[in-house]
Amino acid sequence: MTAAKISVQCCIAGGGPAGMMLGLLLARAGVDVLVLEKHADFLRDFRGDTIHPSTLEVMHELGLLDDLLKLPHQKTRELNGYFGGLALTIADFSHLPVRCPYIAFMPQWDFLNFLDTHASRYPTFRLKMQSEVTELSEENGRVVGIKGTSPEGPLEVRASLVIGADGRHSIVRARAGLPVVEIGAPMDVLWFGLSRCPADPETTTGRFDVGRIFIMLNRGAYWQCGFVIPKGSVENLRAKGLPAFRDSVTQLAPFLADRVGELQEWNAIKLLTVKVDRLTQWYRAGLLCIGDAAHAMSPVGGVGINLAIQDAVAAANLLAEPLRKGQPTTEDLGRVQQRRMLPTRLTQRMQLFIQNRVIRRVLSSTDTLTPPFPVKLLARFPFLRRIPARLIGIGVRPEHVR
Ligand SMILES: Cc1cc2nc3c(=O)[nH]c(=O)nc-3n(C[C@H](O)[C@H](O)[C@H](O)COP(=O)(O)OP(=O)(O)OC[C@H]3O[C@@H](n4cnc5c(N)ncnc54)[C@H](O)[C@@H]3O)c2cc1C
Repeated sequence: MTAAKISVQCCIAGGGPAGMMLGLLLARAGVDVLVLEKHADFLRDFRGDTIHPSTLEVMHELGLLDDLLKLPHQKTRELNGYFGGLALTIADFSHLPVRCPYIAFMPQWDFLNFLDTHASRYPTFRLKMQSEVTELSEENGRVVGIKGTSPEGPLEVRASLVIGADGRHSIVRARAGLPVVEIGAPMDVLWFGLSRCPADPETTTGRFDVGRIFIMLNRGAYWQCGFVIPKGSVENLRAKGLPAFRDSVTQLAPFLADRVGELQEWNAIKLLTVKVDRLTQWYRAGLLCIGDAAHAMSPVGGVGINLAIQDAVAAANLLAEPLRKGQPTTEDLGRVQQRRMLPTRLTQRMQLFIQNRVIRRVLSSTDTLTPPFPVKLLARFPFLRRIPARLIGIGVRPEHVR
């Protein structure tokens, strides 16, 4: 079968937050852009539903905030934690100097459909679903397009620029041979949903107990629960059986005792194998990686989506003009990395600090749990809650839509 051939200025592999936002921004800037997404829709398992103040600010700058907030969502103005018997507020977003000083929890598919609807208003935007990038096309050491598959058969796209926004298992970055630094993490996370009752607490909470961490995100009708386990220990946990797992959940959040029985099989519990890494070089002639494809983030702080969006804004700001004129140079692409490397490194450093000083300690504790020093500081000096709020909610070097 002969391949369908398409020619565009920019071809984006991956229709996640990074790819869809960049597609929208480039189309808005008059660039001919094609996003290829391998799935048939955006409806997938939980993969992060947090829209942070920095992303809401970007939506405001695009004139889309009011419409976005008409979609069902829950607002969280503070993150609370329990360390054994110690209750404290970990982050207080209410002081942030932004239009929306809160995290909006919204299903990622609603957010991505919203971006698609608005991007599709620009005649230069195209999204092709069920289209998977499998190879890069190269000429004289320069990436000049991609090869892939689509419902109609093989596909070849020729582009002045290929963007790898295909997530933490990026095929684009693998094919491009870009150098990766693996940073690692001491934990994995089991995600599952449990129904929520009107009498339940309102706030999004992290419960830290001897050897265990349990996160509960208020999603209106249900709790999105994250059970943090030592890395690689899922098989041990499964071997102990589902009733033992349900008991562990109930010990951490006794009010869930009446519905923990909703967990009838392990299939209802999804494993997130936590991976933290980053490319030391995000680009090659004709190609740039952004979002998780450039840096897989730890779930600490739930910042992955927002960093991906920030990368997209920076890439659009720096590359729309060179793309309109022709082919971005490697210097143009290097500017995106230069702009976004510092926020990536500092955010990962902050995540590693929490992973090593708090999470590792809690997961390896076998006796009583004494709150780690940073937690004691937060409990003692309430104004310090503004620091995690700023790092999580706005991040380092926030981007603004041009
Ligand atoms: C279980 C889980 C929970 C998470 N929780 C949070 C959270 O609470 N908050 C948060 O901010 N982040 C969270 N994250 C991380 C967050 O989802 C990512 O950081 C974020 O989605 C990165 O966006 P992205 O666009 O770079 O990549 P992705 O969202 O991974 O998007 C990549 C897209 O590319 C597509 N794709 C992959 N390969 C190809 C290919 N070869 N061809 C075409 N398309 C392809 C994929 O289908 C996908 O749609 C979570 C992740 C997981 C897995």
